[in-house]
Amino acid sequence: MKIAIFSNDGPSSRKVAEALKAKIAAEHLTIDDDHPEIVITVGGDGTLLTAFHHYQDQLASIRFVGIHTGHLGFYTDWRDYEVDQLIDSLANDNGQSVTYPLLDIGVEYDNGAYEKLLALNESTLKRAMGTMQANVYIKDKLFELFRGDGLCVSTPTGSTAYNKSAGGAVLSSELEAIQVSEIASINNRVFRTLGSPLIISPSEWVRVEPAQEGEMLLTCDTELVSHQQVKAITYRISKQKIAFAQYRHTQFWQRVSESFIGVKPND
Ligand code: NAP
Repeated sequence: MKIAIFSNDGPSSRKVAEALKAKIAAEHLTIDDDHPEIVITVGGDGTLLTAFHHYQDQLASIRFVGIHTGHLGFYTDWRDYEVDQLIDSLANDNGQSVTYPLLDIGVEYDNGAYEKLLALNESTLKRAMGTMQANVYIKDKLFELFRGDGLCVSTPTGSTAYNKSAGGAVLSSELEAIQVSEIASINNRVFRTLGSPLIISPSEWVRVEPAQEGEMLLTCDTELVSHQQVKAITYRISKQKIAFAQYRHTQFWQRVSESFIGVKPND
C-alpha cells in the first residue's frame, strides 16, 4: 500500500502528519508522495481541496482519507487523535470506497484558447468590475439573461460550501447532479432571472456566455483560475469521480446536521 500524506502548515496538522509517518513506517506500509494509492490529508476541507487538485491527474488510482485538526469537515472523517485506528484500517484495507461526482468546466477564451478544469466543490463566475450580464443556456437553448454579481455551479458535496451561502439547496451526496445558484441577482422590470437554484441532470449541461466586454473572475474550488475575457463556459457532470477510502462513513445528513445545526449523533 503506497500512501501520501498531505498536510497544511498548521502546527497541530504537522504534528499529526509526523506521527502518521512514523506509524506508517512501523507498519511496513510505504510512503509515496508521487504515485500513491491512498492520500491522507491533515487539516480541513480546504486542505482536501488542495490535495484533490495536486493529484487530479491520478484520480482513477487514488482514494482519499481526510483527518481534521479543526472542526468536522465535509471531506474529513477522522479526528487527529484517531491516528492508531486509521493505521489499523490501512493495514486491513480491502479496497472499500465511496465515490462522489465532480464538475467539468470547459472555458472558451476570447483569444480562441480553450481550457478544461475539474472542480470538487464548485466554480464561480463574476465580472471584475460592476455587475455581470450573461446569457445562460441549458442544453444549447437560451434559458435567461442573468444580471447580478455572478453564478456559482456546484457538485453535491460542494453544495454545503459557497453554494449554500448563495442560497442554493444542500444536495444529497448520493445524487448525480450539479446545481447553478445565483449570486445576488438583480430582478426588476428590466432584468429577470429565475431567482431560484437550478439542478441539472447528467444528460444536461449549462452554458454561460458573458454579454459584456471586460475581465471576468473565474474560480475553481480554492483557485482564481483566470481574470481574462471569457467567451463562454460549459458546465457538466464529469465522467470522473473522487473516491474516498470508506473505512468508516459519517452519514451525509448527519454531517450536515452536526456542522450547521450542532446536533451530535447521540443528542
Ligand atoms: P476559505 O475561505 O479559507 O474557507 C472557506 C470555508 O469553506 C472553510 O471553513 C472550509 O472548511 C469550508 N468548506 C470547504 N469546502 C466545503 C464543503 N464542501 N462544505 C462545507 N464547507 C466547506 O477557502 P478555502 O479553504 O480555500 O476553501 C475554498 C472554498 O471556500 C471554495 O470551494 C468555496 O466553496 C468556499 N468559499 C465560500 C464562500 C462563501 O461561502 N461566501 C466564498 C468563497 C469561497 P475548512 O475550514 O474545513 O477548510
